[in-house]
Amino acid sequence: MATGACGINCSVCRLNLLGICGSCGSGRSVEGSRKRAEMERIFGTGCPILVCAMERGVEYCLRDCDRFPCVQFKDGHYPFSEGYLAMQERRRKEPPKSRSPLGELVKVPGEYWAALNAQDLGELCERALISQSSQGELLIPFLNTFILMDLKGQTVSLQSGRGWKHLDHPLVELLALVYVLHVKNAPLTNRLIGVSELKTSHFFTGPHELKLRPIMERFGNDLEGFKNAAEKLGGESIELADAAYSFKLFPRIPIYYLLWQGDDEFPPNASVLFDQSIEQHFAADAIWGSVNLISDLLLMARGIESLWGGEERG
Ligand code: SF4
Ligand code: SF4
Repeated sequence: MATGACGINCSVCRLNLLGICGSCGSGRSVEGSRKRAEMERIFGTGCPILVCAMERGVEYCLRDCDRFPCVQFKDGHYPFSEGYLAMQERRRKEPPKSRSPLGELVKVPGEYWAALNAQDLGELCERALISQSSQGELLIPFLNTFILMDLKGQTVSLQSGRGWKHLDHPLVELLALVYVLHVKNAPLTNRLIGVSELKTSHFFTGPHELKLRPIMERFGNDLEGFKNAAEKLGGESIELADAAYSFKLFPRIPIYYLLWQGDDEFPPNASVLFDQSIEQHFAADAIWGSVNLISDLLLMARGIESLWGGEERG
C-alpha cells in the first residue's frame, strides 16, 4: 500500500493503476524519495508537502505532524478541500472522548459523590497524598497539574495558569473519584510489572486491550515526537527501552510508557508498566481507563490543555 506523506493512497488511484502517475510514499520512505527525485527531474521541483515531510522526518502529515493542517495544505489547494482542513483543525482540538471498553460514553455515578461526602476528609487526604484548599475542596496532583474537586458542587476543575477551569471530562472525573475513594495507604513498591503480571491480566484482551497500538504506530519511528508529547504531560524520562517516561497520574498511581524504535529486523513496539501496588488501589477497568487517557493525551501531543480543547501552555 503506497500512501503519500499527504495521506493520498496511490494504490486506490486510477492514474497509478494506469501507470500515468508513479507511487508516492511517506516522508521517511524510499518510495517518497524516488517520487521526489522523479518530480525534480521532470518539473525541476518536488511536491512541497513531500519535500517538507522528508525534511522534517515526518512519515504522514495527518498522523505525525503537529503543524497539520499547515500552510502547504492551506495555500496549496491540494490535496484537501478547505472544508476538510477546517474540520481537521477543529476536531484536533476536541478533548479525547470518555468511552468505556465497549464504546459507550462514560457516566459518573452520583453515588460516588455521595460516598465521598460521607468520608473523613482528613484521613482521606493522608491516605491519598492529597490536600484540601482553604474552601474545603480537594486538591489532587494530576500529571503536571492539579485537579480541584468541589464536593458540594460535585464538579472538578483543572489548574490553568493561576486560576482554575471547569473540566467537563467524565473519564478524568471518574478516575479522580475512584482514586480518592479507593486508594489505600500503601507505599509504592518500586517493582515494575507488565500487564501479564497483573492479577487481572485476563481482563486486558479483546475490547479491553490497552491503547498501545496507536502509540506504536504514531511514535514507533518518531522518538522525538514521543519525548515532546510526554514532556508536555510532565512525564519524567527513565532509562528503559529506546525512550521511556513515567507519568504520575495520581500520587500513588505512576504509569510507565516504554517505546522501542523499529529497525530492519524488528518492528517498533510500545509497552506499559505499573508499580506492583496499583492493584491495591485500582480495579482492572480503572487501570484500563488510566492507560486510555494517557495514550489519548500523548497522541494529541498538546499537553494537559487538550482535556478541554484549549491551546497548550507555552
Ligand atoms: S501530493 Fe505530494 S505527498 Fe501527496 S501523493 Fe502527491 S507527491 Fe506525494
Ligand atoms: S509542516 Fe505541513 S507539509 Fe510539512 S510535514 Fe507538517 S503537515 Fe506535512
